[in-house]
Amino acid sequence: MSDRYMKFANSLLGRQVAPKLGLPQPPVLKRYRPGQPVIEGAVLFGQAPGGRLAASTLGVLGAIGAETWAAEDAALREAAANAGISAKIFSPDSAGDQKFQALVFDATGITDAEGLKALYEFFHPVGRKIRAGGRLIVLGTPPESLEGGARLAQRALEGFTRSAGKEFGGKGVTAQLVYVAEGAEDQIESTLRFFLSPKSAFVSGQVVRIGVGAGATAKPELDWSKPLAGKVALVTGASRGIGEAIAETLARDGAHVVGLDIEPLAEDLKRVTDRIGGSAITFDVTADDAPKELAAQLKKEHGGVDIVVHNAGITRDKRLANMKPEIWDQVIQVNLIAPERITAELIKKKVLHRGGRIIGVSSIAGIAGNNGQTNYATSKAGVIGFVDALRDEVAAGGHTINAVAPGFIETKMTAAIPFGIREAGRRLASLGQGGQPVDVAETIAWYASPGSGAVNGNVVRVCGQGLIGA
Ligand code: NAP
Repeated sequence: MSDRYMKFANSLLGRQVAPKLGLPQPPVLKRYRPGQPVIEGAVLFGQAPGGRLAASTLGVLGAIGAETWAAEDAALREAAANAGISAKIFSPDSAGDQKFQALVFDATGITDAEGLKALYEFFHPVGRKIRAGGRLIVLGTPPESLEGGARLAQRALEGFTRSAGKEFGGKGVTAQLVYVAEGAEDQIESTLRFFLSPKSAFVSGQVVRIGVGAGATAKPELDWSKPLAGKVALVTGASRGIGEAIAETLARDGAHVVGLDIEPLAEDLKRVTDRIGGSAITFDVTADDAPKELAAQLKKEHGGVDIVVHNAGITRDKRLANMKPEIWDQVIQVNLIAPERITAELIKKKVLHRGGRIIGVSSIAGIAGNNGQTNYATSKAGVIGFVDALRDEVAAGGHTINAVAPGFIETKMTAAIPFGIREAGRRLASLGQGGQPVDVAETIAWYASPGSGAVNGNVVRVCGQGLIGA
C-alpha cells in the first residue's frame, strides 16, 4: 500500500507547501541495501566517567570500519588503542562543520541522579550535528540488577532516550537504549550493528536488554554478510505481507527458509519460496496434528530447524458485545495457541537445534489495546506473555525467545483500515509514517543472528515510535 501523502510531502511542490500549511513532513527513511557498509558517516562516542563499555563499543566501531570520534580523554584513548582504532579527537569548539551519523554514549558509569548531567553534557553540544537519518544510542546497565541511586539513574535513561527519539524523529533519526548486563560486554556487536545500520530505520524509542544467558557464552566468528548460512528457518504465514519479507530477509542472510501457509495460498507461497531457493509446506497451524506433523516434516526433510518465526496471524474485529464466540476462538487459536503448541513440540522432540531462535510476532494492539480488537489484542499481549514465560526455560537449552510488536506496517491488513484511522496510524509516530514489511523482517533477522545469543526475552516495537501505546 503506498502512502500518497508521504510522496506528496517529499515532492518539490510538497516541500514548499506542507510547511506553510503546517502539514506534517515525514522524512524519507533509508533502508539497507546488500553490500552497503553498516554505517556511512562519522560516529561520535562518549562515556560517563567509570563506564565499562568503551573497549567493546570501540571494538565494534573498529570492526565495522566506522570513522570514529571521541573526546580528548585518557581512558578513551587507551580503550581505542586497545581496540586497535585511532579515534579522531572531538571538542565542541573545534569540531567546525563536522556532522555525525551516530552519537553513541556509554552511560553505565552513571551511579546517581546528579550523574545524569553527563547525558546533557555529551548530547547538548552536538544536538545540531546529527545528520538526517542518524542514530542515537545510549548504553546502560539493567536497573533491576542495581540498587539505590544507581538503579534510579539507570532507569532514568529511558525517559531521556524516548524523548530524544521524539525530538529528532522528524529528521528520520532513531534513538535507542541498550541495557547491557554486567558480564555481557562482549555480546553487544550484533545489536550495535543492527541499531547503527539502515536495517533499523523504522525502530525508535526502544529499550533492549542484552544478558548473560546460556546462549550468550560462545561468541561465534561470523560472516556478517551471511550470518545465517547453514541455518534452517521456519516462517509461518510466508505467502505474503510481513511473512514474505521475513522469508526474503532470512534467505538474504543465508538461511534455508521453509515457508508455511494454508493450502489455499499454496501457489503464492511457492512463488515466494521458489524465488528465494527455499521450501514450502502447507498447513493450517491450528490443526490438531499440526505441531506433530510439522515437527516430523522438519526433522525428515531438513534435519531439524534453527529459527522459528511465528508470523501467521489473523484479525477478526468486532466490538465485544457483537463478537461471536467462534471469532474469539479463531483469533486466539491462530495467533497464540498455535505458536505455543508448535514451540512446545519442536523443543520436546529436539527438532529445534541447540542455539535455536524462537521469534513471536506481537502487535502494538497487544500493548495499547484497540477498540474492536479485544480478541486480537488479547492474543498479541499473550505473545508477550509467551516470551516472558519461556525466556528462562529456553535459555537453559541454549535458545533464545523474543518478539517484535509491529505498529502500523503498510500491508494488505492495514490497507483495509478506514482512511481517517489509517492516516492517524501513519502520522502519529515520531517518524511520521507507516513502516514497510522489511522493517519487521530486519528486526527478526537481528534476533535470529548467531551473534544475538545474549538477546533474550525482549519485545521490540517496530512502529516508528508510534505515539499510541508509547
Ligand atoms: P497477512 O498479510 O494477513 O499475512 C498473514 C498470513 O498468515 C496470511 O498468509 C494468512 O493466510 C496466514 N495464516 C492465517 N491463518 C493461518 C493458519 N491457521 N495457518 C497458517 N497460516 C495462516 O498479515 P500481515 O499484515 O503480513 O501480518 C503478519 C503478522 O504481523 C501477523 O501476526 C499480524 O498480526 C502481525 N501484525 C501486523 C501488523 C500490520 O500493520 N500489518 C501490525 C501488527 C502486527 P489467510 O489468507 O488465511 O489470512
